[in-house]
Amino acid sequence: MAIARSIVDIAVAAAQRENAGRVVRVNVLAGELRAIIPAQLIYYFGVMSQDTLADGAHLGLETAPLVGRCSDCDEEFDARDCSLVCPGCNGQDIQMVSGTELRVQSIEVD
Ligand SMILES: [Zn+2]
Repeated sequence: MAIARSIVDIAVAAAQRENAGRVVRVNVLAGELRAIIPAQLIYYFGVMSQDTLADGAHLGLETAPLVGRCSDCDEEFDARDCSLVCPGCNGQDIQMVSGTELRVQSIEVD
């Protein structure tokens, strides 16, 4: 719910900057680790955006896959199964390079 609120805030601020009449669409990139439930986020976005410039805007959600990088050999790999062991060298010093982000990618205004 707090996420939906900040997405609305970002969209409204962008529309105001552009002197736009309303927000048509907001595209959000959400990492898999965020465990966002799309239907829930879309619902709260609709509730939070009522009576704002983003009222009635379409929320587009794109999911960023979970990708880890090994600190030992720099290999990047699909970490979707949550294995935190490098498939290249069996190293266990893994950094997440994708999958934890949550950001507004783009906003379409009218
Ligand atoms: Zn490695």
